[in-house]
Amino acid sequence: MGFLRTLFEPVGDLFFTAECFHCQAPLADGEQRLCAACWAALTPVRETDRTFRIMTERFRADGEIDGLLSLFYFEKGKALQTLAHALKYQEVGSFGTELGRRLGAAALERGVTADLIVPVPLNRRKERERGYNQSDLLAGGMSAVTGVPFDPRAVRRVRYTVTQTALTAEQRRENIADAFEVRPRRRGALRGAHVIVVDDVITTGSTVREIARMLKQAGAARITAASAGLAMLEGEGPAVDIEER
Ligand SMILES: [Zn+2]
Repeated sequence: MGFLRTLFEPVGDLFFTAECFHCQAPLADGEQRLCAACWAALTPVRETDRTFRIMTERFRADGEIDGLLSLFYFEKGKALQTLAHALKYQEVGSFGTELGRRLGAAALERGVTADLIVPVPLNRRKERERGYNQSDLLAGGMSAVTGVPFDPRAVRRVRYTVTQTALTAEQRRENIADAFEVRPRRRGALRGAHVIVVDDVITTGSTVREIARMLKQAGAARITAASAGLAMLEGEGPAVDIEER
């Protein structure tokens, strides 16, 4: 179990500012990064929502992803968009960890128990540019709350992919095919395991689906996809372009 990390605190905490990074309001005691009002303005994902139901059904029909866990809808102009952007381009690691903790709490609340948490890997060039992978932060926070170990090295990116923003769902699927690989030395730990695959934002789900496919090929029994943000399906809210890896 030496390669597994159960808690990951990034260096971003050193550059702490005392204002909300979405609305710039001064933060009260106990608030970190995002003020209470901005947290409250996020739209939570409910299991009865049309978007949640349709995404869950699509995943189950594909047979790769067995369950979905998402915290908030990813909406234009709301804090989560600022956040996803900030998570990618600024040192706001503590926020990623906090989102991960909330994701962990949601997992416990819904009775989701797993053997392993696997973050979606960035390609190495991007990770070097940014200094960290935002999905690692989410996975670390989730792990701290649930006690489920996370393994940032179980899956690696073996192929660069083009930015997916302008692609259709089908093109995304082709673009991402065989972009990942399960590290051979991790296969033993995956056999029969329930694995939570964590991404910051799920849009069409092509990335998590491809990783789920790899993990199941490697012997994983069950996959839950988890994310801080979930894109609303068309017709349910403003379409939001996000830059993917
Ligand atoms: Zn705020």
